[in-house]
Amino acid sequence: MRSSVYFYPTLKETPQEAHVASHRLMLRAGMIAQVTSGIYTWLPLGLRVLKKVENIIREEQDRAGSLEVLMPTIQPAELWEKSGRYHDYGKEMLRIQDRHEREMLYGPTAEEVITDIFARFIKSYRDLPKRLYNIQWKFRDEIRPRFGIMRGREFLMKDNYSFDLTPEGARASYQAMLEAYVKTFARMDVTAIPVRAATGPIGGDLSHEFQILAETGESEIFYDPAYETLDVNSVTLDRLQSLYAASDELHDPENCPVPLETLKTARGIEVGHVFYFGTKYSIPLGAYVMGPDGKQVPVEMGSYGIGVSRVVAALIEAHHDKAGIKWPESVAPFKMGLLNLNVKNSACVACCDDFYHKLLQADVEVLYDDRDLGSGAKFADMDLIGLPWQVIVGPRSAEAGMCELKNRRTGERIELSLEDALNRIKQ
Ligand code: ATP
Ligand code: MG
Repeated sequence: MRSSVYFYPTLKETPQEAHVASHRLMLRAGMIAQVTSGIYTWLPLGLRVLKKVENIIREEQDRAGSLEVLMPTIQPAELWEKSGRYHDYGKEMLRIQDRHEREMLYGPTAEEVITDIFARFIKSYRDLPKRLYNIQWKFRDEIRPRFGIMRGREFLMKDNYSFDLTPEGARASYQAMLEAYVKTFARMDVTAIPVRAATGPIGGDLSHEFQILAETGESEIFYDPAYETLDVNSVTLDRLQSLYAASDELHDPENCPVPLETLKTARGIEVGHVFYFGTKYSIPLGAYVMGPDGKQVPVEMGSYGIGVSRVVAALIEAHHDKAGIKWPESVAPFKMGLLNLNVKNSACVACCDDFYHKLLQADVEVLYDDRDLGSGAKFADMDLIGLPWQVIVGPRSAEAGMCELKNRRTGERIELSLEDALNRIKQ
């Protein structure tokens, strides 16, 4: 992509309304633009990151034996009256009337819709277990939307729902999701600690929140330092239950199994939440299957959310410096930036154009800064948007067939031939 035709309206100044790094940097990098309180447009650069995050989440959900569906954003109140949550949900729910004066709502979550689908189509224990998920926009009329998309009103969520015949089966589904989550966040280069949590309005008796550690996190968490050495490929529910991690609400210093000297305290951003809630929705919504003995049994359910859009902000909180964002490669909007430091010098242009085409041929995602701007502005923009690699070419280096390769995360810069740079990047 050439910068000259792309659209990323970067800002030099810090926007007044932004109080945390991720909000500031997303606005300054031209990733998002506010439409109204808690509601944003994702601009091209931000959308590329959102899609990458979404895809990693999707791949791990699929790998864990889940099936993707797409439920609507608008739901009928009727289903929520059946589950008994319509009145409890309160002002966070955006309620709408259609032209026939039927009560509708913009879904804040989808337990009711999915349980109803299950109830209508799945009738036998032979079809279990089932794990159905979607990645869809949700709306919660938050009392205090803040920190940009971190706590928006409209936000993208991955929500998965598991259906099992027995509580043991439901625990296996729960464990499969825990494993999938640990792998998902490891692929994005962040540690997300599964913290025991209160179950809140969704209800249930087994629940973990996934917290990405960041100073600006809204939650205070307490955890066993053993989490820092956890092998992501061998996480089990038992192993997690044997390690202590609790939210502020649940942490009891008197009865904490970890000695105070070793216990770690940190702030975290809740990026995911998993619940096991048994038959709380299956009974009122009629999700029963025929068991092996021919009797009707309500299915055992769990639900598993990830705040996809919030993850984008949390990744920035975990990976940035004064100059801007430092994207992990797996979610970077482009793998590299190519900077032509002088677009009026024909040798430099020819050299950069040639290099750009070779990158495209090699399927390297590249943002080519071919704008007529001073080099200071180009360096600042590139550091701000945080692509993992930068290749910098000026008239003198172009003449010699050389460039500078910069690693945004380590700050390391080396001079090498354009050919060597290409080979390195291809790896
Ligand atoms: P919070 O405690 O942050 O309000 P929640 O407990 O209400 O979150 P869940 O119902 O567990 O959230 O929703 C699943 C996930 O959706 C959360 O873990 C979080 O990552 C994300 N999420 C919830 N509310 C918002 C929001 N207003 N903006 C962005 N993401 C959100
Ligand atoms: Mg929660």
